[in-house]
Amino acid sequence: MSSQDYDCIVIGAGVHGSFTAYNLAKKNRRTILLEQFVLPHSRGSSHGQTRVIRKAYEQDYYTQMMEECYQLWFQLEKEANVKLYRRTGLLVMGPERGVSFPAIKSTLQRNKIPMMTLQRKEFSQHIPNVNLTPGHEALVDMSAGVLYADRTLKTVQDLFQKLGGVIKDGQKVIDITPGSVVTVTTTSGVYRAKSLVITAGPWANTLLSYTGLQLPLQVLKINVCYWREKVPGFYNIQQHFPCFIQLEPEEARNDIYGLPSNEYPGLMKICYHSGFETDPDERDRQTDRGDIDILQRYITSCFPGLVPTPAIVESCMYTVTPDHHFVLDNHPTHSNIVIGAGFSGHGFKFGPIVGKLLCELSQGEVPSYDLAPFRIRRFQALSKSAL
Ligand SMILES: Cc1cc2nc3c(=O)[nH]c(=O)nc-3n(C[C@H](O)[C@H](O)[C@H](O)COP(=O)(O)OP(=O)(O)OC[C@H]3O[C@@H](n4cnc5c(N)ncnc54)[C@H](O)[C@@H]3O)c2cc1C
Repeated sequence: MSSQDYDCIVIGAGVHGSFTAYNLAKKNRRTILLEQFVLPHSRGSSHGQTRVIRKAYEQDYYTQMMEECYQLWFQLEKEANVKLYRRTGLLVMGPERGVSFPAIKSTLQRNKIPMMTLQRKEFSQHIPNVNLTPGHEALVDMSAGVLYADRTLKTVQDLFQKLGGVIKDGQKVIDITPGSVVTVTTTSGVYRAKSLVITAGPWANTLLSYTGLQLPLQVLKINVCYWREKVPGFYNIQQHFPCFIQLEPEEARNDIYGLPSNEYPGLMKICYHSGFETDPDERDRQTDRGDIDILQRYITSCFPGLVPTPAIVESCMYTVTPDHHFVLDNHPTHSNIVIGAGFSGHGFKFGPIVGKLLCELSQGEVPSYDLAPFRIRRFQALSKSAL
């Protein structure tokens, strides 16, 4: 066992831990990033080729955070000389009399985000090969696009190491002792630091249990489905097919989203924005495919150019809070422990800004944004243990 001192320890080398570690290293903080699996891995929530980036949100605070976040993505591309974003636009479709579609539309309008509303009669001219559900409206968030996820993680981890940061992968954290100096024990070492950031994705509550805290988080296994184009190129990124979100009526609640064919030639990624509860260590034992039935029905009716049987099904996990908003906060009893958790299946695009905010919290700085929507105290009424 070795004993080493750092300014900050970050647990979890997913998108949020990697960006947090990078931000700390940029501030010359001696930082170590601990990861249970050998990197890169596909056992958490940040793996895979692509994620959607968008400003289309119901809440102003997400849209406004994304304004700066886009700039941070562009800076990162420049700094590392690598392409991480590709603009495609995001087609948002939803019930005109629902809550979500009008809310997204007015958030985009209020914040003067470039967008195009599509009237039903002109829809098929702009978006061929998609049937707009009767009673639904459509708009396009023009600056939305695709982020290259695996490439992002490698880029940020490389930059972190170039700045002097230390990554120890294949080291599972098995204990945390809070205090003015936090001690973290892994399967092969003991590390001490002035502050600790926990960004453990689906394992957040396992790590938090060492600190006497449990959050109301639900871990869901997501079936990541890829669907074959009947005619190659119908829904291709090269042909400028956009990403899309299909908002469902509030009572159905779970939306469907998709990305143009890109990572696997001729296959479009379309997923259900929910899944089935799982233990993150037993993810592959969860074999429920009820979501795939829903997707098949949707694709048959709205994407007639796709074969309605998935050609590839991969796995990923969401860690969901009751209100689907993130947790970005200091630990309620140990203020030098900072928590980034519960990204609820929409956190990737925020990586650069979450990394900046968690870094600020761990250094006792005033955060750049009002974190009220992300504070732990909002769960007080629901808490499993004292928060
Ligand atoms: C199918 C799918 C599609 C998505 N699509 C989008 C999208 O289009 N746009 C978007 O913005 N977001 C999207 N998301 C959400 C986004 O990917 C997640 O919010 C984000 O990746 C969460 O990152 P994280 O760093 O919190 O967790 P993770 O990536 O899971 O990272 C946590 C890390 O902590 C490590 N860890 C855990 N316990 C320990 C321990 N004891 N010791 C050491 N290390 C440990 C884990 O191994 C893991 O590497 C999607 C997610 C999924 C699953």
